[in-house]
Amino acid sequence: GFRCGIVGLPNVGKSTIFNALTAAGIDAENYPFCTIEPNVGVVPVPDPRLDRLAELVKTRNKVATQMEFVDIAGLVKGASQGEGLGNQFLGHIRQVDAIVHVIRCFTDDNVVHVEGSIDPLRDRDVITMELVLADMESVEKRLKKTRNQAKSGDKKCKAEVAFLEKLQEVLDRGEPARVLEPETDLERDLVRDLCLLTTKPVLYVANVSEDDAASGNSFVRELEEAAAGEGASVVTIAGGIEQELSQLEADEQQEFLADLGMEEPGLHRLIRAGYELLGLITFFTVGEKETKAWTITRGTTAPGAAGKIHTDFERGFIRAEVIAYEDYVRCGSESAARDKGLMRSEGKEYVVQDGDCILFRFNV
Ligand code: GDP
Repeated sequence: GFRCGIVGLPNVGKSTIFNALTAAGIDAENYPFCTIEPNVGVVPVPDPRLDRLAELVKTRNKVATQMEFVDIAGLVKGASQGEGLGNQFLGHIRQVDAIVHVIRCFTDDNVVHVEGSIDPLRDRDVITMELVLADMESVEKRLKKTRNQAKSGDKKCKAEVAFLEKLQEVLDRGEPARVLEPETDLERDLVRDLCLLTTKPVLYVANVSEDDAASGNSFVRELEEAAAGEGASVVTIAGGIEQELSQLEADEQQEFLADLGMEEPGLHRLIRAGYELLGLITFFTVGEKETKAWTITRGTTAPGAAGKIHTDFERGFIRAEVIAYEDYVRCGSESAARDKGLMRSEGKEYVVQDGDCILFRFNV
């Protein structure tokens, strides 16, 4: 599965948000064959298109696609120096695909701020700096090794040293490694190999109090401006509200949302933002027996998408019958879409698009 790691200073609302996410999520009991670690939440990706399709075909079983969130607590100033458990937390971050960085944008005298005041940009920089410091260590280690190898005059090693030195400059300036785009295959391989923390895509969650849920506040605006500067997005969430919402039954939830003037839980925006951050898109398989949303990375071809369902589908792939979501809904059924010529027969090279409703033809 694809994983977002939730990081942030202590007391900013990480657990509150994580608990709300997992309350809506999938119970460990439904996963009898694998153990879910307590700090990992498997969360259905809310998608109104799936609901619409399920309704159209009166499906007996509607299955959302999922993604995972990991609560990575304990990242504090000094973590990269290996004090206490710091290094262990950095290790957890290494294993996620993207980073959700929660930033405190609420004032509450009853909740202590570890740095003594509310200051979103300082908080962002404290965490970023720990990640940068950890990456500097990784780059330094690699540089030492590669410089030694480069003494033999090996061209590849020399090119690696050159790129590592550029990386080092970026990190020395306190900037994340992601600002340096690798240009050659060698550089891309090297970056993948290094498994740096600051090359992972990041999004910020501005955690606000209930009163600011709708329109944010000056802290949020400050954060949004700074995030725009680094090409990152900000999702504003009132952690407290989300926790309350997550404990309600569906109909009570609707009522509460209406009272607040909200259309959907803020968590839905967060989950979708995480999904986008990971470069993921959704295709559907639609039927009376089951209607299901599936996750693929953008750019996946039809056989690759088939392989998500079953390896046999990929191995024996013949073609994919594809109806775009909009066409499916407009026609009202698969047969109507087929009659109107809106069901396309696509081959091996076809790149699956977000919202495609697909029927795979394959040999067994
Ligand atoms: P973590 O250390 O980042 O995981 O933070 P927690 O989720 O444990 O939250 C720390 C404290 O802040 C708890 O007492 C929460 O109830 C409180 N808290 C979390 N989110 C909000 C919020 O949006 N507004 C207010 N006023 N308090 C919050």
